[in-house]
Amino acid sequence: MTKREWLAAQGLAKAGARGKFSTEANAALKAEQARCEAANIPPPWTEVVKPEPKRKKRNSGKVTAFEKSQGIEQTDAPVRKQPVEIVSVPKRREETHAYVIDQHNFVVAIMYCGGCNKSISRCTHDMPIAPDYLGGKNSPVSFEKPVVV
Ligand SMILES: [Zn+2]
Repeated sequence: MTKREWLAAQGLAKAGARGKFSTEANAALKAEQARCEAANIPPPWTEVVKPEPKRKKRNSGKVTAFEKSQGIEQTDAPVRKQPVEIVSVPKRREETHAYVIDQHNFVVAIMYCGGCNKSISRCTHDMPIAPDYLGGKNSPVSFEKPVVV
């Protein structure tokens, strides 16, 4: 008998329902528990212990001793990918941005070279190239902010 079944027999809970017990139901449980302890008898209900959820074993990709004993030399476990090595492009200049004059005669600061897609300081060109939307190779680029008259 579960606590709920016992309570249902007392008219304090619905059998088969779920959720918390009412204050009265909890008080009745406590009283019955105390009564049984005083009388040195087990309570009329048995605790239902939920089994621990089984943890999924992490597959390391290594052949286990058991697998070896079974003649398995390789495991089909996914091998963990090696981290991608990030190669840093060395700095070529101190400037971090350059200027281009756009078709409307506005000065536009660019932070990336349109030719090599690297930041201005790491651009591999002798002079950074303006991005296509600013005219590309045809637009002059300067490190000094041009004065538009
Ligand atoms: Zn470049």
